[in-house]
Amino acid sequence: MDDHQLLRYSRHILLDELGIEGQRRLLDAHALIIGAGGLGSPAALYLGTAGVGTMTIVDDDAVELTNLQRQIAHDLSRVGVPKAESARRSVLAINPDVQVHARVQRADAGLLDALVAQADVVLDCSDNFATRQAVNAACVAHARPLVAGAAVGFDAQVSVYDTRDADAPCYACVFPPEAAVQEVACATMGVFAPLVGIIGSLQAAEALKLLAGIGTSLAGRLQMLDARTMEWTQIAVPRAADCPVCAPRRRTTAR
Ligand SMILES: [Zn+2]
Repeated sequence: MDDHQLLRYSRHILLDELGIEGQRRLLDAHALIIGAGGLGSPAALYLGTAGVGTMTIVDDDAVELTNLQRQIAHDLSRVGVPKAESARRSVLAINPDVQVHARVQRADAGLLDALVAQADVVLDCSDNFATRQAVNAACVAHARPLVAGAAVGFDAQVSVYDTRDADAPCYACVFPPEAAVQEVACATMGVFAPLVGIIGSLQAAEALKLLAGIGTSLAGRLQMLDARTMEWTQIAVPRAADCPVCAPRRRTTAR
């Protein structure tokens, strides 16, 4: 770390839990962010300010006026610009020291397989069940920790799915892929603006903890928020022995 970095990250370095070693781990890390919308905006900005050395942001959408109510990585001048590129510019405007790769592509299985393999942590900031399952499958296949958040209306949830921990569930253990899911999208249901900020920031916090190797992650615990009452509920989520995604792979690695 040079003098400039020591100054920029001084308030992190002052933390006993983090220190120079932890900050160095962040600078050497690569985070993959799926989605540059309401959750991905604060997640990318905080990972950028915190000095995560390399970030890849995947989103195939372009910025629209209706996004600006909550997607804080974008602004009026970027309407029509791909969200991944807009988020990249916003991160670099704050911290030009970090590398940000914008991928204006749909997060399909092939792309995810390639990108997850290169990442140290994955943040699912997407907005649909199919993408969440595809991100989880890639994370299980490559044994990468997944920080998944979701928010709609006034309700939100966040957790960490980390199959490196033998007792911890993957996303599909908790939300089975074959389950009939009623997709509720922000486009039809609406979403309370700061709710995505709260959850995206929480995702950034969990990702930074995982990368720096500090604290205890949310693995095995699902954190839920009802913003109407601002009540947090946390439930234990066990792994499913018959999970179609992680169970076969865990048996393979156990042998
Ligand atoms: Zn599973």
